[in-house]
Amino acid sequence: MAETQSSQHRSEPLRAYLTLNAGSSSLKLALFPEDGDSPLATALADRIGPDGVLTVKDSDGRVITSLPGPLDHHETALDTALLNFRALYPSLSLVAVGHRVVHGGTNYSAPVIVTESTVAELDRLRAFAPLHQPHNVAGIRAATKAFPSVPQIACFDTGFHSGHSWINDTFALPREFYERGVRRYGFHGLSYAYVASELTKVAPMIAQKKIVIAHLGNGASLCAIEQGRSVTSTMGFSTLEGLPMGTRCGRIDPGVILYLLDEEKMNSSDISDLLYKRSGLIGLSGLSNDMRTLEASDNPNAEQAIAYFVASIQREIASCAATLGGLDALVFCGGIGENSRAVRERVCAGLNWMGLSVDPAHNAANETFISAASARIPVLVVPTNEELVIARETRKLVTRAS
Ligand code: AMP
Repeated sequence: MAETQSSQHRSEPLRAYLTLNAGSSSLKLALFPEDGDSPLATALADRIGPDGVLTVKDSDGRVITSLPGPLDHHETALDTALLNFRALYPSLSLVAVGHRVVHGGTNYSAPVIVTESTVAELDRLRAFAPLHQPHNVAGIRAATKAFPSVPQIACFDTGFHSGHSWINDTFALPREFYERGVRRYGFHGLSYAYVASELTKVAPMIAQKKIVIAHLGNGASLCAIEQGRSVTSTMGFSTLEGLPMGTRCGRIDPGVILYLLDEEKMNSSDISDLLYKRSGLIGLSGLSNDMRTLEASDNPNAEQAIAYFVASIQREIASCAATLGGLDALVFCGGIGENSRAVRERVCAGLNWMGLSVDPAHNAANETFISAASARIPVLVVPTNEELVIARETRKLVTRAS
């Protein structure tokens, strides 16, 4: 019987990189070998709190632990996941820990080795990303406590967008707000960096051209790239702007917020809860933030929520193409982008006039190239892998520093 990679390594010394992606109620971990791109093990701690679930998979993607049970906070989730990794690899020796950090502010555009002052600075950025940054910082603190002598590397979601021109970076507010950091940062940068690098392998002829990448998951945004670099993104100052998402509103007139404050007498925390957690697909459908549930439903509100999502993507693709001055390819990624043939088909059907259309068979099979033979613009599906970008960046920085 073929021995799995995990059992082969069971008692051998093993140098590895750990990646951590801490969300508000979840923690994703992956263990990568010192010099390889295939994870040795992964763990997902979901619904951190009294109803937590921890799922650990081995190098073959087989579930080896699925534990429902309380996960008090991120630290418990990290400790429990690590216990499982150590059970698989008793002689595990971490070279470094790489972290996804949503916001790098104006100072951090490239990955950095975290020091105490970096953590303090990243913590100060919590006001810019209140629903994400505190958890990212908590993840760094928990990992530093667990491995005090192992370097911690922060990789930023904003980093990929740091080269935007001023026009694509600013709001039309008085200039002092820009100087104070009120800018369009853009997010999902680790995902875009991965997909842009994959394009150089799967589609080298178009990788440097004018491309829109649609990261469509529970969070969703578009990025316009040219020569592999971000030119603009639909997300801006916060992770609310642009496309509607699972629970976030996307594009909204700021006048609505003033109205909610002044007339509906909502305070900022009520409005934050409304815009981040009760809007988007769940708000419009009244049913679910999950695209699979909406696609399976015959409730007309579910269909309207999908229709709004699709229409927003179409409008923003055209907007990105206008900024790029053309479009040479459209690439889908993220849970919806990689799996929902209906969303991909509908988005492209409404943009036939631009030269976009999908081939039903290629689309149904989630192939890399899904455009119709007659289409002027190639349409691709490229699965994203944020964990691998973090592992690669961490490895690069640690190797350079040693
Ligand atoms: P992500 O945040 O990237 O993990 O994506 C989560 C979203 O992807 C959820 O809305 C899921 O419903 C959606 N998704 C995952 N698989 C499918 C599928 N087979 N068909 C439609 N949507 C899917």
